[in-house]
Amino acid sequence: MNNEQSDRKQMVRDQLIGRGLRDPRLLSAFGSVPRHLFVPKEYLHHAYADGPLPIGFNQTISQPYIVAFMTHLLELTGRERVLEVGTGSGYQAAILSRLAAEVHTLEIVPELAAQAERTLSELGCQNVHCHLADGSLGWPAAAPYDGILVTAAAPSAPQTLLDQLTEGGRLVLPVGDRGYQELEIWQKAGGEFSRRTSLGVAFVPLRGEYGWKQK
Ligand code: SAH
Repeated sequence: MNNEQSDRKQMVRDQLIGRGLRDPRLLSAFGSVPRHLFVPKEYLHHAYADGPLPIGFNQTISQPYIVAFMTHLLELTGRERVLEVGTGSGYQAAILSRLAAEVHTLEIVPELAAQAERTLSELGCQNVHCHLADGSLGWPAAAPYDGILVTAAAPSAPQTLLDQLTEGGRLVLPVGDRGYQELEIWQKAGGEFSRRTSLGVAFVPLRGEYGWKQK
């Protein structure tokens, strides 16, 4: 086993299983996606550490546990079409690609979008489609989605995203102020939306039409 493989195994054991995540498909996705390919070279040694890392442009790749916990909230079986808002490094999209049928991911920073698309294609994630776009508007061209994951902090759940859910579909996103948010899980059932809240988190701000206005 090489170093990366054993680091990955340890990450899954200590950070995911150790905090109560049990779904074998989820754990196997985290055991197989090479997270070190998604972090800048200078952070290579921290690729499997228990925290977020800078990826440039004031953005971060989220802590592995947060990526796992948010993915777990979508309850994917492998048949779903999923939308991610905030491609960043592309790591979350690569995880989703192993757990859903089709993934669309949206990034607003051109350099990050281009880099993530390269990494994902080098890894052969053929069911991931990267788009340079304001993700607060969703991606109507491929809607509706069984799952939508927003990986940047929103002031509130954008109606445009809720409108792009299938019946039974879920939207998972961090909602709150710029420093602290709670994960919200929205589900569409019988044409109505229900909402529950979960873990406290700290994400970078969502920009764009339904995000935070820039100072
Ligand atoms: N999911 C990423 C981490 C995301 S960090 C990963 O696995 O690495 C949040 C990302 O959301 C940043 O890259 C930021 O540029 C992007 N972002 C912020 N507002 C956005 C918007 N309105 N549309 C698309 N992407 C946005």
